[in-house]
Amino acid sequence: MNSVKEKINQQIEQSNAIDLLRNLINIPSSDPPGDTRTIADFLAKALRAKGIRADLFSSDPTRVSVVGRLKGKGGGKSILFLGHLDTVPIGDSEQWSINPLGGECHKGKIYGRGSSDCKGGVAAMILAAEALLKASVPLRGDIILAMAAGEETLSEMGTAFLLNKGVITADAAIVTEPTTLPAELPVNPHLQIFIASRGMIIFEITTEGKAVHAKIAHQGVNAIAKMSEIILALQNLKLDHIRHPFCGTPSLNIGLIDGGTSSQIVPDRCRIILNRNTVPGEDLSSAVDQVTATLDDLMAKDNFLKAKARILTREDPVEVSPTEPIVTILNEAIESALGRKAGIGGMIGTNDSRFLIRQGIPSVICGPGITTQSHGIDEYVEVESVRNAAKIYALAAARYCSYNGSIYPENAFPFKRRRE
Ligand SMILES: [Zn+2]
Repeated sequence: MNSVKEKINQQIEQSNAIDLLRNLINIPSSDPPGDTRTIADFLAKALRAKGIRADLFSSDPTRVSVVGRLKGKGGGKSILFLGHLDTVPIGDSEQWSINPLGGECHKGKIYGRGSSDCKGGVAAMILAAEALLKASVPLRGDIILAMAAGEETLSEMGTAFLLNKGVITADAAIVTEPTTLPAELPVNPHLQIFIASRGMIIFEITTEGKAVHAKIAHQGVNAIAKMSEIILALQNLKLDHIRHPFCGTPSLNIGLIDGGTSSQIVPDRCRIILNRNTVPGEDLSSAVDQVTATLDDLMAKDNFLKAKARILTREDPVEVSPTEPIVTILNEAIESALGRKAGIGGMIGTNDSRFLIRQGIPSVICGPGITTQSHGIDEYVEVESVRNAAKIYALAAARYCSYNGSIYPENAFPFKRRRE
């Protein structure tokens, strides 16, 4: 076995992954409100104590992100690891069977809000960088560790801010969100490298009616009743002719409705919020047209139906080629660490890779934890998956950062290349 790989593994096995992860879970960082000052401060100090440079950046006084950096000696490619510090709220803590901020460890699993999404990934990237440093692995390019605020509230105050300010950039990136599919799914292997992510178009649709007293309802126009026709038509829209190999078929969800004031008044206004998930490669203007045409068709048939649609948010789907060097190198690192390759897949949701890919940084998503644990009650991450992710990140970074601009020198590989 290669000594560099052995040294990395040894460092990670000796590291105190459980304590690091427990400390991160103990510090609340729910978003909203999104205050990451304490956890960012803790991480900056922890990184500096390990000999890794760390700086704090904030788009507002409470949304603080941490960026750590291991400098290479130059002449190589740089790699960015990107995770997030904020979590979704705990929700009803009565429903949890353990303390959501306790970081309790049972049978190899650490429980708590954010354990899987995404504090496990944050811990793994830190353990990886520490192992590379302690094992004195030579690096040509830099390793950047970005731990962003505000991911659960669309990232404008975290990753987008760091990119726009020029604080983070790299030749490739690994987003450390959980990517192990649940064991009950008939897929093998369950660990995935996600190379594509869905996007979304959020519409607000309003109907306008005519308010009159309920006792003369026939003289009014009921905006809720008119909206119900729109809802039925939208629910019947055909989407199954669109299919992406990794992100599947797009979906449509009406997630909010409000309208009316009293049973005594015919409502003159009703509003719904619609989330139209999009997949890479689909015609996005058609996705918009399909919704507006549905409204136009109904209005053409009914003079009393008045409706308007407007787009509140649009995040386009993204994908990178499966032949990108970062995909190949990451999967070879996985094979070296685990003895088997990962599957190539897509994320059925948006994530921060979209900002990186839009800036031309080839980015994949691969991290410890099971995808269905994110945002759930009794969220957990397996300690073993965090250690494995740390080994994988260290091996992938060591190889990627040894790239000298033309070829990956054989002698710079920390592990053996597979013979073709
Ligand atoms: Zn996440």
